Amino acid sequence: MIQMEKYDVAIVGGGVAGLTAAIYAAKAGKQTIVIEKQDRLGGRAITNKKKGAYFNLGGHALYHGDALATFRELGLHMQGNQPSIDGYGIWKGELSTVPTGVKSLFTTPLLSWKGKMEVAVWLGKLGKLDTHHYDQISLREWIEANLHDPMVRNLFYALFRTASYVVAPDLQAAGPVLKQLQNSLQGVMYLDRGWGALVDELRKKASEYGVHFLTNNKVKCIEHQKGIVQHVLCEDGTKVRARNIIVTTSPAIAYQLVPHAEATALHTWKEQAIEVTAACLDVALRRLPKPKQQFVYGIDQTVFLSNQSRAAYLSEDGAQVISMFKYQGMETNPEKDLQELEQTLDLVQPGWQSELVVKQYLPKITVCHDFMHIKRQENPGPAVPEINGLYVAGEWASHGELLADASTASAKRAIEHILLLEEMERTPNYEHRDIV
Ligand SMILES: Cc1cc2nc3c(=O)[nH]c(=O)nc-3n(C[C@H](O)[C@H](O)[C@H](O)COP(=O)(O)OP(=O)(O)OC[C@H]3O[C@@H](n4cnc5c(N)ncnc54)[C@H](O)[C@@H]3O)c2cc1C
Repeated sequence: MIQMEKYDVAIVGGGVAGLTAAIYAAKAGKQTIVIEKQDRLGGRAITNKKKGAYFNLGGHALYHGDALATFRELGLHMQGNQPSIDGYGIWKGELSTVPTGVKSLFTTPLLSWKGKMEVAVWLGKLGKLDTHHYDQISLREWIEANLHDPMVRNLFYALFRTASYVVAPDLQAAGPVLKQLQNSLQGVMYLDRGWGALVDELRKKASEYGVHFLTNNKVKCIEHQKGIVQHVLCEDGTKVRARNIIVTTSPAIAYQLVPHAEATALHTWKEQAIEVTAACLDVALRRLPKPKQQFVYGIDQTVFLSNQSRAAYLSEDGAQVISMFKYQGMETNPEKDLQELEQTLDLVQPGWQSELVVKQYLPKITVCHDFMHIKRQENPGPAVPEINGLYVAGEWASHGELLADASTASAKRAIEHILLLEEMERTPNYEHRDIV
C-alpha cells in the first residue's frame, strides 16, 4: 500500500469543480491534492482534437455567470469571442428568422403583431426581473402566468431549453433558468481551442499554487470514523489521508464511495437528483454551404445548432466547427436522435456531407447530474453534515446556479466552509456548531 503524507484538502475528481476547489484551497495556503480517475484532467470540460478540429464533449458556451467571474478573478487567460445571436428557428420543418433584436422582431414571420408586441415588452423587462421571486414555481407555471401568445410561449420554451439543456418544464424551477436567460442576454463566450484550453489554464494555476495531482487513479472509498473523515482509498491501494475531502463526482458515485452513506444527506441528494442528458453531433466542414445559417433553435423540435467557429478558433485549417444538440428529456433513442440531428444539418447546411472533414457523435452524455427542480428537498452541500470534513461540489451541488457556474460556485462554497470552520476553531471559547 502506498501511504501518502497528510493533506489539508483532498479532492476527488479533476473537472472544473475539482480544479477550482483546488486552486482556492491552495491559494489559502492549504496542502492540496486532486485525485482523478482518468489519465487527464478536465472531466466533461475536455476537448479532443480530431483532424485539426477542436471538439468539446458537445458544444460549450461560457455564460456571464459565476464561472466566468471566477476564472477572471483567478486571472486565467481566456481567449475567444462572443457570437452574434442573430439566428433562425425551425418550425414545421422550415427555417424562419427568430426575434433577437428590433430588426428581426419586425421581420420574423413567426409572430403576429400582438405576439411581436409581447416579445418587445419582455425583451425590455427580462433583464430587470428579480428572478428569485420565481424559485419555487415551475417553468410552465411561470410561462403560463406571464406569456399569452402561443408562439411567444413556444419561443421562450426554446430559449429556456437552450440556456439550461433541460426539457422538463413542469419540474424545472423558473427562477434559476430565468437568471440564466438574463445572463445569456449579456452574450456568451466561445473559447478558442475549446474548453480544454480553459482546463489547461486551471491546471497551470493550480500547479503554480502547489497543488499535487494524482491522475489515472480511481478512488474506491472515503473512510470516516466517529463522524470524522479519515482518508481516501484508491483502487491501486494508495491511501491519501486528509483533514478535508471534497467529492466532485456525481451524487450516485459520491454515495457509493462513502460507507454508511444511507445515514447521511448524501442519500437525499442522490435520491432527489434528476439527470439531464443530450445527444451531441459535432462536425467540421471545409466550408458552409449556407454561410448565413449559423445559429438555429428548434421551436417544435428539441434541437439546437451553432457554428462555434463564427466566434472562436476551433480548427487549424479554417474548417468550420458546428455543434448540435438533441435535448433528450426523459426519453432517449440514440439512433433516432442522430437521424434528427442529421436532418437538421440537411435543412440548415444542405450538402454538408460533401464538405465533411470529421465528425463526433455522443449518443447520450450527462450534461448535469441534477438541476434546480421543484421536487428538490434541499440544495446539496457544501458540507455533508453528518461527517466532519466531508464536502461535495459539482454542477449538481447547485444553490441556484446552472452548469459550469454551479461547478465553480459549489467548489468555492466548500472551500469557504472549510476556511470558516478553521477560523472558528482558532478562536477562543469555540464550540462546534453547524455553519449554515
Ligand atoms: C454536452 C454538454 C454541453 C455543456 N454545455 C455547457 C455550456 O454551454 N455551458 C456551461 O457552463 N456548461 C456546460 N456543460 C456543463 C459543464 O461541462 C459541466 O458543468 C462541468 O464540466 C462539470 O464539471 P464538474 O467538475 O462539476 O464535473 P466533471 O467534469 O464530471 O468532473 C468530475 C470528475 O470526477 C472524476 N471522477 C469520477 N469518479 C471518480 C473516482 N471514483 N475517482 C477519481 N475521480 C473520479 C471524473 O473522471 C471527472 O473528471 C455542458 C456539458 C455537456 C456534457
